[in-house]
Amino acid sequence: MKVEICDNCNREIGLSEQALVLDGRIVCEECYANLKFDYVAIAKIQQLFLFLLLVELIILPLLIFLSKACVQALLVIIWGLIGWLLLFVFIALMRAMKLRIRVIFLYIIGFFIPIVNIILWIYINYRAIKILQAVGYRVGLMGVKYRDLR
Ligand SMILES: [Zn+2]
Repeated sequence: MKVEICDNCNREIGLSEQALVLDGRIVCEECYANLKFDYVAIAKIQQLFLFLLLVELIILPLLIFLSKACVQALLVIIWGLIGWLLLFVFIALMRAMKLRIRVIFLYIIGFFIPIVNIILWIYINYRAIKILQAVGYRVGLMGVKYRDLR
């Protein structure tokens, strides 16, 4: 009887174990669990990420037009809080996309650098879109259309 070899870790797949196919490669159950994306999670986190970014973008012009000091102070606090929330969602998105911890750590540093952070957001969002489109999701400006998410 032919023994299957995992394409990822080169380990022999035992008889009690099931060989699984992922992107045309034969992998063991362990590698399958490690490599398989949770597409619904990526889609939902990406939606939340885009929503928070939009809120931040809306608050910025309000800061200029609503010149009352107390309103401005309140807006700055909200802007800051959503900024932190955005960081956590950004990390959650990178985790769901299974980026390496070292890379995630670098991007977290980049999150705090002006201009660099905008490039990072666009880049990570672009990669999330590519992952989702590869399995047939239609991704719009605000993420995957709701009815596409089971
Ligand atoms: Zn394996």
